Amino acid sequence: MKKTLLLKVDPLRPEPEKVQAAAAFIKKGGLVAFPTETVYGLGADALNPKAVLALFEAKKRPLDNPPIVHVANTNDVHKLAGQVPKEAELLMKTFWPGPLTLVFKHADAVPKVTVAGLDTIAIRMPQHNVALALINESSCPIAAPSANLAGKPSPTSAQHVFDDLNGRIDAVLDAGATCIGVESTVLDMSVNPPMVLRPGGTPFEALKKALGDVRLHPFVVAEEEVPLAKARSPGMRHKHYAPNARVFLVEGAVPAVVAKVKELTEAYRLKQCKVGVLATDETMAAYSANAVKSLGSRFNLAAVAQNLFRLLREFDSEGVDVIIAEGVPAEGLGLAVMNRLRKASAYNIVRAE
Ligand code: AMP
Ligand code: MG
Repeated sequence: MKKTLLLKVDPLRPEPEKVQAAAAFIKKGGLVAFPTETVYGLGADALNPKAVLALFEAKKRPLDNPPIVHVANTNDVHKLAGQVPKEAELLMKTFWPGPLTLVFKHADAVPKVTVAGLDTIAIRMPQHNVALALINESSCPIAAPSANLAGKPSPTSAQHVFDDLNGRIDAVLDAGATCIGVESTVLDMSVNPPMVLRPGGTPFEALKKALGDVRLHPFVVAEEEVPLAKARSPGMRHKHYAPNARVFLVEGAVPAVVAKVKELTEAYRLKQCKVGVLATDETMAAYSANAVKSLGSRFNLAAVAQNLFRLLREFDSEGVDVIIAEGVPAEGLGLAVMNRLRKASAYNIVRAE
């Protein structure tokens, strides 16, 4: 087991010596977890195949699910991508740095392992001074999936990274909790019209406004498991965001949802299960369970997104057997929240009527 170095760093003005220490690991082919505005990423030199392979191993990530490559300037996009359509130039100007990942056909120089053998590459520029400083200091694009063990909820703090990866990676840059809390939106620019493969920190509504014609891949809003053959993005077919507890997601109008959550809570408590309810500010007083946690207000879906993964991990550390979660409106950041909750529940969706 390696020793994982914890480097506390100022989120706005990262101390150069700490960034240099982290970049030294990246340059040697090592692995460094770092904050972005979405979740913590686990970084490796995207152009070093051995380093990227070690990244997959540390996360226990299936080799067919490629990471996002993070850049600090748009010149690197032109080195990594074969073709950059003009709509993509507009998106980069409008949304970067920020939580939007663009998928392009990749250039020949990109190692196969970095793109998992696909003919495309996913690229974004994160909006976080620590991430940008690390990429600049490392002098290479950084391949970085979320810094969790594959299948677990994504990490929104350095502690979450440690809980999953201590002893498996070289260092963690700790700049406190991340502000968006769900991963970036993945938009496929290699097809026409562009298609959202994963909803995330950039709302679909904002992309529609910028592009006019943009589609949601049907699986983004899927209410059941994706058949393997139809997945456009490798991430669609892997187990994701799952806490140890069994998750039920209750969807419908709020009063019916509250009644259904209460009914399920009672039923599982009678079975001697330790039950956690994932509620909202407006509804939490209605519940009594072993643990009741609020995602935030239903009228502030950005706060809901920010709290989601932390609360799923908290239920696990409290040893909850069953989590009963309320659905929220699938609009703005709520679309990403509902996509993650549906996957976390393994599509155990209960309709409240
Ligand atoms: P993560 O890095 O853990 O946030 O996951 C990255 C996401 O981007 C996963 O859902 C991947 O499947 C997806 N992804 C990465 N590269 C590509 C690509 N070339 N085409 C489509 N999706 C991709
Ligand atoms: Mg991930």
